[in-house]
Amino acid sequence: MNISSSAATAVAPSVALSVVIPVYNEEDVLQALFDRLYPVLDALDEPYEVIFINDGSRDRSAQLLATQYQLRPEVTRVVLFNGNFGQHMAIMAGFEQVRGAIAITLDADLQNPPEEIPRLVAAIRAGHDYVGTIRQQRNDSAFRRIASGLMNKLRERITRIHMTDQGCMLRAYDRALIDTLNACHEVNTFIPALAFTFAATPTEIEVAHEERFAGESKYSLYSLIRLNFDLVTGFSTVPLQWFSLIGTLLSLGAGALFLLLVVRRFVLGAEVEGVFTLFALQFFLIGIMLFGIGLLGEYVGRIQQQVRRRPRYRISAVLQAETKAIER
Ligand code: UDP
Ligand code: MG
Repeated sequence: MNISSSAATAVAPSVALSVVIPVYNEEDVLQALFDRLYPVLDALDEPYEVIFINDGSRDRSAQLLATQYQLRPEVTRVVLFNGNFGQHMAIMAGFEQVRGAIAITLDADLQNPPEEIPRLVAAIRAGHDYVGTIRQQRNDSAFRRIASGLMNKLRERITRIHMTDQGCMLRAYDRALIDTLNACHEVNTFIPALAFTFAATPTEIEVAHEERFAGESKYSLYSLIRLNFDLVTGFSTVPLQWFSLIGTLLSLGAGALFLLLVVRRFVLGAEVEGVFTLFALQFFLIGIMLFGIGLLGEYVGRIQQQVRRRPRYRISAVLQAETKAIER
């Protein structure tokens, strides 16, 4: 067993297929995942690799992954994070390890049936560089379904990313797209959307969706909200533009009201000692302030995107059969 302490950079494809799976506290599902995933991949009869990224699990997930690595070292690689950096960072770290001509992302909890993988591979080989998925029948709570439906609509309106179902992580990417994603040093990101922005020939297929095999969702309401902010701010400045627009409309409206009240003041005389005139003036100023803040936000948002160049995650070890790791 080789343990290297840094991630590999892009290497020429040496296997046909890489399956990338983020794992966070999934001890109850991992064995069932191994039992279903490996037979599907073996049946493809092509060289493949499965890359698990342990995202700082506090349960026995890391041990289970190490055991699986020992059972199937020729086709299994395990990246061990030394903390919890989130699902999308875990997938990014997996992408940096990908040696396949095609990469497939999958959730560990078996909500995405591994049996769908051959269909995704076929779609890539039919000439698409990105294969998105639409869940035929989504098996999640009603709240999750409704909230994510609304977010889906909002994203569709304010970004140029067009996906029928943004939430499903069972997706396929071709090698060139993976290389492009690896060149992005996005910190807070949403991988299906990021990949879509670069895809030349994207397509979507319908896939089955199952209930979580065991354990519970790793996303609290709070982290779901954070994730959706990443999705919106990472791919659109429209919210900031709305802010500026509201400020503009407000100041125009208040300006008109102010004029009206000034005229009224001289024609009919002061009302309530001129209090309303004062209000109008105040609204006018508030409108200008909102506009100013919105405009500032436009700049700050862009600068912030540009300057934050922190490491995105930290890998403590990589379990893999041969060391191809290159120091970054
Ligand atoms: N996950 C992760 N890091 C996290 C949260 C989740 O690697 O901080 C993994 C998790 O183990 C699973 C996938 O991301 O493989 C999707 O998580 P989950 O099923 O909890 O999300 P949901 O299906 O509820 O959206
Ligand atoms: Mg899930």
